[in-house]
Amino acid sequence: MKRRNLFPLIAAVGIILAACTTTGQEKKPKVTSVKEYEVNLSEEEWRKRLTPEEFRILRQKGTEYAWTGEYNKFKKKGVFNCAGCGNPLFSSESKYDSGSGWPSYWKPLNEEAVVTEADYSHGMTRTEVLCAKCGGHLGHVFPDGPRPTGQRYCINSLSLDFEAKKDTKKDE
Ligand code: FE
Repeated sequence: MKRRNLFPLIAAVGIILAACTTTGQEKKPKVTSVKEYEVNLSEEEWRKRLTPEEFRILRQKGTEYAWTGEYNKFKKKGVFNCAGCGNPLFSSESKYDSGSGWPSYWKPLNEEAVVTEADYSHGMTRTEVLCAKCGGHLGHVFPDGPRPTGQRYCINSLSLDFEAKKDTKKDE
């Protein structure tokens, strides 16, 4: 008698567990770059515009070897634009030596300059940084940067084009 009375309870628990499993939503990364990019070229057009190495990094999410990039130890004052579309991305004022082997910044030039996406490639969980105007791959951002943001934007030199600063407003 006792065993028989338990059957409805066991059945109910089973149904609830099955329901939870099937309706449980997968954890999806927060994506900020779902939109049509202003600069939207075909693969062929990108290949014409970029060098093979720039194409590999910007359009195929590649990475340059550490310590090899043109801007890793670079200290001139100015703005770093996207090598794909010219969008201004970072200022020399937020550049610092992270010791990582890649040019590092503690913030982008402004909030509209870059977008981010969760990146689970190569068995890691990282946050990818992309140009907000063309979607070009720039690098990744890590939460181990200096104050005041605590962020480290670790960027490929090949994704950037430096433009010397023309004004010196800060010195006035
Ligand atoms: Fe761009």
